[in-house]
Amino acid sequence: MAQADIAVIGLAVMGRNLAMNIAEKGFKVAVYNRSSSRTDEAMAEAGDLAGNMIACHSIEELVAALKPPRALLLMVKAGEAVDQTVELLKPHLSKGDIIIDAGNANYRDSIARNDALTAEGFQFLGVGVSGGEEGARHGPSIMAGGNKDAFARVEPVLMAIAARYEGTPCCAYMGPAGAGHFVKTLHNGIEYADMQMIAEAYGLMRAGLGMSTAAIADVFEGWTSGPLASYLIEITVQALRTTDPATGKPIVDVILDSAGQKGTGRWSAIEALDLGVPASAIAAAVEARGLSSARALRQAVNAALGDAERGSIGSATPEAVADIEKTLLAGKILAYAQGFDVMAAGSKQFGWDLPLAEIARIWRAGCIIRSRMLDRMSEAYSATPAPASLILDPDFAGQIKESLPAARKTLGHAVAEGHAVPALTSALNYLQQLRASRSTVDLVQAQRDIFGAHGFERIDQPGAHHGPWHSGA
Ligand code: NAP
Repeated sequence: MAQADIAVIGLAVMGRNLAMNIAEKGFKVAVYNRSSSRTDEAMAEAGDLAGNMIACHSIEELVAALKPPRALLLMVKAGEAVDQTVELLKPHLSKGDIIIDAGNANYRDSIARNDALTAEGFQFLGVGVSGGEEGARHGPSIMAGGNKDAFARVEPVLMAIAARYEGTPCCAYMGPAGAGHFVKTLHNGIEYADMQMIAEAYGLMRAGLGMSTAAIADVFEGWTSGPLASYLIEITVQALRTTDPATGKPIVDVILDSAGQKGTGRWSAIEALDLGVPASAIAAAVEARGLSSARALRQAVNAALGDAERGSIGSATPEAVADIEKTLLAGKILAYAQGFDVMAAGSKQFGWDLPLAEIARIWRAGCIIRSRMLDRMSEAYSATPAPASLILDPDFAGQIKESLPAARKTLGHAVAEGHAVPALTSALNYLQQLRASRSTVDLVQAQRDIFGAHGFERIDQPGAHHGPWHSGA
């Protein structure tokens, strides 16, 4: 008998936790996985919650279990698995049924899937879900895009399972097809930058100030009650406080320094380039991960040129540590400003009208980049008119100004002493370029006119100009 409010298809770590979350909120959820053993495991793991879950071992069973119009939430591997699952489902569905892709899809795929499914009479939602396993189970941040009526049909479920910040659900409608996954992509791009900058700050304390992991953990713990307060800082404390049971060393010292990535960070950087919006801190973080995994090349360069000879940047005084905190604070504001700028440009390009204040609001709980700073960012974008960049919000402008001398000093020392700080320096360079009343691109314009007759504007006369250029080198 059709009694389920929604289906969850794909019961790996995210899907099974999302299904339990839905069941816990009192909805009946039909669950299905390509490999039946996973369905059985998910039911066993659900314990008492299994009473609100209907295990389905075939697509026919799954479709029959759902109340019409059916809502089917896919939590399968991003990419081809989504299309393959949709193809299997379609012959069993009716017009008006809603397919929800809640995995980490590329927003361009979501637009294409929406167009194809809509043409066949189905409805589609591309929904970004952030928060990992814990978020899926107890409340993720949810960014929905697609048909508004379809969203209204599943809104009660999504609102009920979302994380709550001061009682308000961290779930919102972002706009038409693609908008939800676009915002999730930028969320992840910002996450890459935030993580990389924290790691760089750790590196400066460890190799630059000669501090132990335990002492650095204490510093990060102190930062959890300051302007940098965030989930990522909290888990950094956790990481640095953990000892490897096998060797007795700090666990970070035995973890291979080679990071994985699944694509969303890279997509953020690609979108930024495509839209012509600088997102250098995000790109630097993506590149840092890429470089970390180029192990053979790293080893060859290390052997050829020797180790990085990282020198001291000072002693571990409270002032030096406070300078690193300010450097990270400025870097973080600038990286977020870049991420929001990319969203603003995407919104304009696709006519989405992305709700930037709402985005900052729903990122305040449930998701990986939840932080105190997002509260203020939401307020900043609620202003009329909204600032053209977060850097122009008076509060953030003040924080950047206040942090800048420390950031310049710290990063100057860091570079001079051989420390790699790609994301933090990218953020600082971005700001310095933006601030400069005059840049060195005047020379680039001259070069362009010499080799390509591209012309240039003058500061003292209107119109387009060319040379004349000196005839020889
Ligand atoms: P995953 O490892 O990305 O994918 C495994 C799931 O996909 C399994 O249920 C698997 O079924 C199914 N699957 C793979 N290929 C399939 C195919 N061709 N046809 C049908 N089903 C197929 O699982 P996950 O980590 O739970 O992530 C699910 C989605 O959420 C992904 O898009 C991921 O990027 C996104 N996400 C993940 C996280 C996270 O922290 N893990 C956070 C946010 C978003 P079988 O059991 O039959 O192999």
